[in-house]
Amino acid sequence: MIYHSTRNKALTVSSAEAIAQGIAADGGLFVPGSIPELTAADFNSLKGLPYAERAARLFKLYLTDFTDEELRECTKAAYESGSFETPNVQEITTLADGSMLLELWHGPTCAFKDMALQILPHFLTRAIRKTGIDKEVVILTATSGDTGKAALAGFKDVPGTKIMVFYPEDGVSSMQKRQMQTQEGKNVRVCAVKGNFDDCQNGVKAIFTDPAMQEALAANGMQFSSANSINWGRLVPQIIYYVSAYVTLLENGTLKDGDRFNITVPTGNFGNILAAWYAKQMGVPIQHLVCASNINKVLTDFIDTGIYDRKRDFHATVSPSMDILISSNLERLLYHMTGEDDAQIREWFGALKSEGKYQIPLELTHRIQAEFSGSFWDDAATKAMIGKVFSENGYLSDTHTAVGICAARDYQAKAADKYPMLIASTANPYKFGAAVLEAIGGDTNADEYEILDRLAAKSGMKIPAALAELKTKAVRFKDVVAQDEMPAFVKSALGIQ
Ligand SMILES: *Cc1c(COP(=O)(O)O)cnc(C)c1O
Repeated sequence: MIYHSTRNKALTVSSAEAIAQGIAADGGLFVPGSIPELTAADFNSLKGLPYAERAARLFKLYLTDFTDEELRECTKAAYESGSFETPNVQEITTLADGSMLLELWHGPTCAFKDMALQILPHFLTRAIRKTGIDKEVVILTATSGDTGKAALAGFKDVPGTKIMVFYPEDGVSSMQKRQMQTQEGKNVRVCAVKGNFDDCQNGVKAIFTDPAMQEALAANGMQFSSANSINWGRLVPQIIYYVSAYVTLLENGTLKDGDRFNITVPTGNFGNILAAWYAKQMGVPIQHLVCASNINKVLTDFIDTGIYDRKRDFHATVSPSMDILISSNLERLLYHMTGEDDAQIREWFGALKSEGKYQIPLELTHRIQAEFSGSFWDDAATKAMIGKVFSENGYLSDTHTAVGICAARDYQAKAADKYPMLIASTANPYKFGAAVLEAIGGDTNADEYEILDRLAAKSGMKIPAALAELKTKAVRFKDVVAQDEMPAFVKSALGIQ
């Protein structure tokens, strides 16, 4: 399979190169030249298989220059080495109203990012060998909180790699900050940025695409890559968990062959919901996709109007991993939905950069609305939903998942269709303990560890060991820089001129 840059179709690479490079040299994102399709027989053939084996078979469709054996090594190392606390890797919980939560947070850092970032380092080290790039790979990552920790955990002490994570100084939960500042490993660096997630992401993208930076790295035997969802290697594992979830629903009799269902995804960078859209293109019978946002509702507005406008106030919310105004992966959706019109993508994303805004034609807006709808929910609604779900089901949901539940219920109340609803549950509630404890009526006047204990006492849900043990770990990283100081920080951390 050949991959193209969204901004220049003629720029093509193999899957290994797409993963090794992370982002195209022209600033575009790599997309597959065609989307593989699965039949009912294909889905049925995945029944009864462990997650790692299902994943290996599905990866084969996209990562065509990896051998079957390599893919099995990767999926076993990622999903069967004991880093996920459940043998199924992902779990599906049904609430009293019949909606289903796809729990994607049973990995080592307690958010869905582990599903991809536990496997990406295995892909990447093999991709580097395949492409003959005999260079040390420097992973630069911008994070709204969860990607950073998941990437650090995945790449920690992986030979031939270094990883650097930038997070917004005041834009992550205290537990997220702790998780990153205490990260162990010889090849890791963590730095706070004075600004929000978009500032971090823009800073990282600017470093990636700066020719002088690339030369400086090359002169020192190094090359950049990305662990953000701009990297195709992040997206494929996410496509695969939606396919696998469908197979599980067939297996347990919730759905019969071809039965339609809807999916709601709490969204920031448009990565996780785009993965569901790819799964739909592959033949998973998904009827409608609901894009759930917090009050940083740039995507809700885009779906409603066809105008993407990032020129607006940025709000810090209780769902910080969705506090994003530039949703990078929308570029991939628009590339596919314009019939691969790279010139058009260049124009829109050029305008987004220079004017902060672009507008798509009405006809395309209508086609997007036929597949997606969006809604947004403020912190009060989010917390109220956490409280309601807890009192109705005795189930704790995290703040991001609660935004998703709000959007899903709203869609179900208004839409004519009555298809089952699967909601992506993106984080363990303990990761956002203070907001969750407050939502279920607890006293939050305590430090982050005392909050874990109080939450456990009230809910009976087990505290993840990975969070409880942070208490005894030393803080290693305290650097804070402005966005324009990021390049100098990177050079100094790498010890290059
Ligand atoms: C990253 C993240 C999101 C948003 O996912 P995108 O792929 O950026 O849309 C939602 N919830 C949680 C908990 C996250 O960590």
